Amino acid sequence: MELAIDDVLKSVQDERLLDISYKVLSGDRINEEEALYLFESNELTALGMLAEYINRKRHGMNAYFIVNRQINPTNVCVYQCDFCAFGVKKSDPKAYEMSMEEILKKVEETYLAGGREIHMVGGIPAHWEYERYVSLVREIKKHFPEIVIKAWTAIEIHHMAKISKKNYREVLEELKEAGLEALPGGGAEIFSERARAIISPNKANAQEYLEVHRTAHKLGIPTNATMLYGHVETLSERVEHMAKLREIQDDTGGFQVFIPLAYWPEGTRLGGRRTSSVDDLKTIAVSRIFLDNFEHIKAYWITLGEKLTQVALNFGADDVDGTIEEEKIVHSAGTRSAYGHSVDKLVSLIKKAGKVPTERDTFYNVKRVYS
Ligand code: SF4
Repeated sequence: MELAIDDVLKSVQDERLLDISYKVLSGDRINEEEALYLFESNELTALGMLAEYINRKRHGMNAYFIVNRQINPTNVCVYQCDFCAFGVKKSDPKAYEMSMEEILKKVEETYLAGGREIHMVGGIPAHWEYERYVSLVREIKKHFPEIVIKAWTAIEIHHMAKISKKNYREVLEELKEAGLEALPGGGAEIFSERARAIISPNKANAQEYLEVHRTAHKLGIPTNATMLYGHVETLSERVEHMAKLREIQDDTGGFQVFIPLAYWPEGTRLGGRRTSSVDDLKTIAVSRIFLDNFEHIKAYWITLGEKLTQVALNFGADDVDGTIEEEKIVHSAGTRSAYGHSVDKLVSLIKKAGKVPTERDTFYNVKRVYS
C-alpha cells in the first residue's frame, strides 16, 4: 500500500523541508547539505513519512528477514577499540576461542533447523595465522555446502592481508575459493578520521575499509555496509559517511544493504550514553532518503530492540536481519534485546508492525511470504 504524495506533503511544516520533500518525491537525489538539514529537523513524522514513501515504492508492504546464525569464533582481539565491549585481551578471564568442532556443531544445529546463512565475525587475535581464517570457511563449506557463508569484516580482511603479506584481492580470491560468498558490513564505524582516532585508532582506517569492499565488489562478492552512530561523531560526519558509501555504490553496485548501528556504551572504555529513540528513527529515515542507490535499509533488531524495530519498519526500513540465535557483540555492550528469535517470533513481530513478513536468503531472493 503506497503512501499518497498529498499525505506526505501535508505532514511537512517547514518550508525548506517542503522543498527537499518535493525533490525526494519526484525521485531526485538530495545532496549532503540537504541530508544534514533532515538530521537537524525536528519534524520526525514528516521524515518518517518521506522515508516510508520511498520504502513502500520499492518494497510494498514486505519486510525481510532471514533464518541465520551468528558465530563469533573468538573475542580475543589485538585492536582494543575503545567503543567495543566485546574484544578482550588473551589474558582476560572472559576470553574464549571456539574449536573447529564447536563451530561445526553450531552450524549443524542451524542447518537442521532450516537456516542457510552463517554470519561469522569476531575478535582478531595476534596469535591467529592467516590459514586459520581461510580454513574456517573451507571446513564449514565442506560439511555444509548449502550454507551461505557471510564472513569476516573488512577489518579482518585487512588484518589477513597484513599477516599474510598478500593484497586484498589475493585474500578475497582465496576466501572465495574456500566458500565465502558475501562480506558483512561491520568495522565501518564512522569514516571521519577525527572520530575514528578517538574510538578505534588502531585498526584499519576508512580508506582501507572502503578499498576492501570495492575489491570484493569487483570480484563479484556482495557486501553490506554499516555506520556506528551515537558516540563522538557529529551529524555532518554521519552524512559524510553515507556520502562515501553512496559514491562507491554508484561505481560498483555491490552493497546489498545499509545498516545503521546504534552505539551501546555499557562496559566500553569510551562510555557515553545510549542513543535516543528519536535519533534512531531519524537515522533510519535519513539513510533511506539519502542512499537512493541502496536497495535495502536494515533495522537491526539487536541494537534497536524489538519494539523500536517495529516502528523503524514504518520509518523507511525494510529488513530486520534474522533469527541470529546467539548474538554476543552488542550484548557485551548492554543491549536488552533477546540473543536470538524463532521464525515464529520474527513473523509475529513484523506482522504486528503492519508489514508482510518475507523470508529471504543472503542475496535478498525471496524464499517465503507469510501473507
Ligand atoms: S571492534 Fe572489532 S577490532 Fe575493535 S576491539 Fe572490537 S572486536 Fe576488536
